[in-house]
Amino acid sequence: MGEILKVGVIGTGMIGQDHIRRLTKVLSGVAVVAVNDIDPKRAAAAAPAGAKVFDSADALIADANVEAVIICSWGPAHEAQLLAAIAAEKPVFCEKPMTTSEAAALKVIDAEVAFGRRLVQVGFMRRFDADYRRLKAVIDGGTLGTPLMYHSAHRNASVPAGLYTSDMPLNDTLVHDADISRFLLSDEVSGVEVRLPRRSSQGVDLRDPTFVLLHMASGALVDVEISVNIGYGYDIRGEVSCEQGVARLPERPATLVRDAHGVRQAIPEDWRERFIEAYDQEFREWIVAAKTGTATGPSTWDGYAATLVADAALRAVESGAFEPVRMRDKPAIYN
Ligand code: NAP
Repeated sequence: MGEILKVGVIGTGMIGQDHIRRLTKVLSGVAVVAVNDIDPKRAAAAAPAGAKVFDSADALIADANVEAVIICSWGPAHEAQLLAAIAAEKPVFCEKPMTTSEAAALKVIDAEVAFGRRLVQVGFMRRFDADYRRLKAVIDGGTLGTPLMYHSAHRNASVPAGLYTSDMPLNDTLVHDADISRFLLSDEVSGVEVRLPRRSSQGVDLRDPTFVLLHMASGALVDVEISVNIGYGYDIRGEVSCEQGVARLPERPATLVRDAHGVRQAIPEDWRERFIEAYDQEFREWIVAAKTGTATGPSTWDGYAATLVADAALRAVESGAFEPVRMRDKPAIYN
């Protein structure tokens, strides 16, 4: 591979367009040479100058000019596109959720293990956020003692009515909280409980909010509030309680406004605003690894773990009981 990594983007919806913007206008050492979307008009509209528009994801992945692949299609399409990229032996970035079933996740793991080294990075961008990285450094530093509980909240101003369904807090949103809990606590999820408080009147025909308890293998507990129609903004919170102290994410953005109405702080509108630097850093690190023909950062193993948590959470809604999460043995390439 040369100085400039030549990438193809599959899926040019909301996040595909945002990633094309950062790859063409913000980051260096990378060029978007190909795009594809199930809607060819949307792909053509999103294609940067000089990029070829492909009428299928498979054709884009197979093209000799495409050195690495970025998957931003919807979740159920990820499995086939990941398997095609691994078969083509190309580094691939895949947005979360990596897959939408355990069986699909295992197929992707098996293909990557058979290839022999990591090719896949999964889009858990919180791991690249400076605030989460500082929080992890505090926990790992050990001055607060062993972490015992982590309190996580994921609040969206609103979600698209009709498109965002009642399972999605668990199989689309919770995957971020599950992954960051595993990352911060260096732990695995061993089981899940779900409780449903009384419904918010803001979410018509939607089970909202959702309260999730993740049991970690160490015995630590993680509570997660998912509220997806809270109106006031996109508010992501996290606080870890340790034996000898607590640490939490700061308010973002940090600027305080002081005027005749009091002291105020802005709240991000959506994920693009809150995690803009994290997405940039996520791709900086992906580009470096992809140029050497491999991947670092959140792996297929992490995507698999999040999928299992989502599956267990959906079972827990039905059963009302603790649902175990059982992972297979970890292949060596993920150590
Ligand atoms: P979106 O706006 O619906 O965009 C997805 C695009 O992919 C649409 O244009 C869709 O076309 C297209 N598509 C669907 N199936 C395809 C296929 N088989 N091949 C090629 N293109 C296909 O959704 P989005 O919000 O951008 O989300 C895309 C992915 O990113 C999802 O997995 C989502 O969970 C993830 N995401 C991650 C974050 C994060 O924080 N990391 C944030 C937002 C989204 P149609 O609309 O015609 O189906």
